[in-house]
Amino acid sequence: MTINTILKSDGPAIDEPVPSRYALNVGDIEILVISDGILPIPSHVLAHNVEPDVLDDWLDAQFLPREIAEWPLNVLVVRSGDQVILVDAGLGMDPNLKLEKAGRLVQRLEAAVIALSSITDVVITHMHMDHIGGLVIDGTHERLRSDLRVHVAAAEVEFWKDPDFSKTLMPQGFPDALRATAKRFMEQYGSQIRTFETEAQVAPGVTAQLTGGHTPGHCIVRVASRGDRLTFVGDAIFQVGFEQPEWFNGFEHDPEEAARVRIGLLRQFAETREAFVATHLPFPSIYHVAMAGDAFRAVPAVWDY
Ligand SMILES: [Zn+2]
Repeated sequence: MTINTILKSDGPAIDEPVPSRYALNVGDIEILVISDGILPIPSHVLAHNVEPDVLDDWLDAQFLPREIAEWPLNVLVVRSGDQVILVDAGLGMDPNLKLEKAGRLVQRLEAAVIALSSITDVVITHMHMDHIGGLVIDGTHERLRSDLRVHVAAAEVEFWKDPDFSKTLMPQGFPDALRATAKRFMEQYGSQIRTFETEAQVAPGVTAQLTGGHTPGHCIVRVASRGDRLTFVGDAIFQVGFEQPEWFNGFEHDPEEAARVRIGLLRQFAETREAFVATHLPFPSIYHVAMAGDAFRAVPAVWDY
């Protein structure tokens, strides 16, 4: 089979030439970062509270194109004891938005020999389509366990009953697609959802913590075992967020609060020297934060395999 036929194959992605998963351990807890693919998003969404030429200069300096920013899309699988926890679920399918380079989670779980039926828990950092869409692909719900526990902050469930998009700046079509996907997710998984107010212990060493900001019920997932730690920050930190933590991302429903959350986490990681994984940082998305004067600097982890 040539590389091209592999890339065009719709079947299980076992033979994909580019690795889509990265394994690491946090103490006794096993973690896989899985790439769901890439989201091409208009670059101006990265910062809607600065002049366009300021953003263009930043994009040039980062060797990023001015028109379209490619957002990596990462998901976590965590094994703690006898629990298998999926943290977020990727984009799924939305043919109207033409985001064909993402939505690979299910086939990449299969490639990693992780059966959907082995997943005991799901943590949803927030109910944007690129974090829940993989769960609402036709046929997926039926393949998951009937006793699956889905952990979502109570504030997130409440928010999506009547979501406020007034402070966002999303590309055309996105607000409607996000509303529709969140509605579908609640219809399919509502009875399996276990809400929490500020914090929930999902498994030994695995805790979901409310941050708010990006969405009112946005949460992060802390993993800790034998003195080792890692945090999955969801959409609290974007690539631009190290140098420009106060730039408002168009997907943030409360951008001022999102900036406060981001700066708080970056300061914390710089202080504790703890590693983190973010949904939209380049795969495998394992980073440390260093301080350069007052500025934050991203330090990617060395590929260790
Ligand atoms: Zn996202």
